[in-house]
Amino acid sequence: MSRGGGNPAVLFGFLGVGFITLLAVAGGGSPARGAATVGGIVKSKLGQFFTLAELARSSVAERLGIDNTPPPVAQANLERLVLRVLDPLRAAVGRPVSVTSGYRSAVVNQAIDGSPTSQHMSGEAVDIKVDGLTAVQLAAVIVRLGVPFDQVIWYAPERGGHVHVSYTETRANRRQTLHAPASGGYVAWTPPASARAA
Ligand SMILES: [Zn+2]
Repeated sequence: MSRGGGNPAVLFGFLGVGFITLLAVAGGGSPARGAATVGGIVKSKLGQFFTLAELARSSVAERLGIDNTPPPVAQANLERLVLRVLDPLRAAVGRPVSVTSGYRSAVVNQAIDGSPTSQHMSGEAVDIKVDGLTAVQLAAVIVRLGVPFDQVIWYAPERGGHVHVSYTETRANRRQTLHAPASGGYVAWTPPASARAA
């Protein structure tokens, strides 16, 4: 008995992936910078300052030839993250917020050895940097901004020097603040009370 061909779910899934890839290559005609990277089937602009492309770009996916286009649920989560956290942050700091890692498909997450429960896979987390701010300063800005967040983690330079920030609507946001030290793992961290972080 032959396998494949007779399974409509498999066939549909295959055609679906091909279709999305085709659209991604064709681009969507959006003028947004980098929008063609993830195609025009999706809303390219999220909020005021960010594009879906910059929240879904992955050098690992590009290198491995993996389609890292977020599915609709992840796109909706990314948009909420932008509206609730990233747009207010961008407005507050008054300069570009660089996304060093946003959405990760399960394959991409595995390729970079990410946590199997990473919120990056659901579009609920991003890693960011801002020129002129250290990771601890940026983390403190986010916490003091009063925006809702699930986790803010600032990483030691040896571990990337970025800030991981997440937001969810599947449960209450924890407002957990952590530091990822050079020695590994995570430790509790609270931003200093002064206007400027150490
Ligand atoms: Zn992260």
